[in-house]
Amino acid sequence: MISDSPDIQFLLQAVTTGMRLSSRLEASGDWDTLVKHDASPVTVADFAVQAVTAALLAKHNDGDVLVAEESSAALRLPENAHTLAAILSVVKQVLPEVDAEKLCAWIDRGASEPGERFWVMDPIDGTKGFVRGGQYVVALARVENGDVVMSALGCPHLNQQLQPDRDIGGSLLVAARGEGSWIRPSSGKEWRRLHVSTQSDARKARITHSFEPSHLNQDLLDALLDTLGTNVETLPMDSQAKYAMLSGGASDLLYRLTSTGRPPGAECIWDHAAGALIVEEAGGCVTDLHGEPLDFTQGKRLAANTGVLVSNGLLHQAALDAYRRVTGEAG
Ligand code: AMP
Ligand code: MG
Repeated sequence: MISDSPDIQFLLQAVTTGMRLSSRLEASGDWDTLVKHDASPVTVADFAVQAVTAALLAKHNDGDVLVAEESSAALRLPENAHTLAAILSVVKQVLPEVDAEKLCAWIDRGASEPGERFWVMDPIDGTKGFVRGGQYVVALARVENGDVVMSALGCPHLNQQLQPDRDIGGSLLVAARGEGSWIRPSSGKEWRRLHVSTQSDARKARITHSFEPSHLNQDLLDALLDTLGTNVETLPMDSQAKYAMLSGGASDLLYRLTSTGRPPGAECIWDHAAGALIVEEAGGCVTDLHGEPLDFTQGKRLAANTGVLVSNGLLHQAALDAYRRVTGEAG
């Protein structure tokens, strides 16, 4: 298993706590959802997990920077007082000292700009999946000088074989640069090392992609499947659970295509950092759709990259070639 350090302990504590809170809320079936400026949803779970992580980070190392998806602005509006109260009661289960001011301040610790060293979090990646009863994950990573050096994914609805499963308590995945990727049940102790698949035949590739049609470019995906000659049905899935599946050999390829009408470079770092390291340390490969490495030095977005391609390594070149042929772009 990965060598122990205060940073690894914080990483595991934050993601385990976040997963426990989100699972409890999910099971209760009782959470408010607000709608953000970009029309995407944010729930009590997103705010609660971000707040608790920020509070735990302040105890771990108060000087550390957190870059995270959510902001407290909407919670300060009188019409959202009910949501604020609901988040407070969830956070109180872990941090009894919380009040409204502290809660908003903790959430807004995540508004920091990425610098040389920072933590990056998506408290609930796949919020639409959380709301719909699909997949979601709690994602946290540490970035140093543009390199993801450690990360964890809390996956409440993936089992130890990295298959979608709603009947078990979920899985915790962790990776550190040079030390591999590991998995254990969310309430277990035994870690097992993860390895990507050995599939080298693109026709047999198990391919995952976004569940939400609005996050997809279906025409482009269909053309890629044709070009690769893939005859396995693809698996639509929310969140970085797709990275988790691939890291354990349960899928072989993941295309994150720039959806229609969305500019290239719009991918947010919290949607990819944690999953990318977990796949790489399991022996896989992560680049953009042109084969360029993901560049985590460009701020909150992967502004220098076009989409993302994740594979077991063996299928990477075939997947890049297919993209070049279909889009007619020079490689
Ligand atoms: P996924 O569940 O893999 O589709 O990814 C979900 C994450 O990607 C969310 O954090 C979304 O904010 C983001 N995302 C991906 N594509 C889009 C899009 N076309 N419009 C808005 N958000 C997107
Ligand atoms: Mg997300």
